[in-house]
Amino acid sequence: MSFTLALVGRPNVGKSTLFNRLVGKRLALVDDQPGVTRDLREGEARLGDLRFTVIDTAGLEEATDESLQGRMRRLTERAVEMADICLFMLDARQGVTPADEVFAEILRKKSAHVLLAANKSESNASDAGVLEAYALGLGDPIRISAEHGEGMADLHAVLMPLA
Ligand code: GDP
Ligand code: MG
Repeated sequence: MSFTLALVGRPNVGKSTLFNRLVGKRLALVDDQPGVTRDLREGEARLGDLRFTVIDTAGLEEATDESLQGRMRRLTERAVEMADICLFMLDARQGVTPADEVFAEILRKKSAHVLLAANKSESNASDAGVLEAYALGLGDPIRISAEHGEGMADLHAVLMPLA
């Protein structure tokens, strides 16, 4: 049995970087629902011996008539419905921002299975942000650097029991 992991969080926290690291060139499927294709990318992830489906919530960066908050909410709720687990990503260098709080609220309300990742943690400039992340009440943050591939063993350790 495998699982589906959705990467959620505000623009620029590193979701696509992690998606690309997990999926490599194996990007395969896209959702065929109107309006969703552009916004949700699905791929087959590999992390050590684990194989699972990963969803990247994209499209928040593009300007449209819909407010960013509205799109964040809609996309995140959709991703939560599709996924068994959400990996809520923060930029640890920036700490917890008001936009992050909005996501945390959506995820708490949806009572999804949520894991917290403090990304961009490759330097100790991220320590304060990691500490802030504990206050979200979404469990212990996993320190990762999607860009540098750090913390992947810790991510593996957290996901392994779910596989
Ligand atoms: P998304 O909008 O959440 O999909 O974020 P992206 O994956 O597009 O990343 C946004 C920016 O953060 C890009 O310039 C990435 O290169 C950078 N980035 C992603 N992960 C890391 C990381 O672990 N460390 C650092 N320093 N930068 C990162
Ligand atoms: Mg992206």
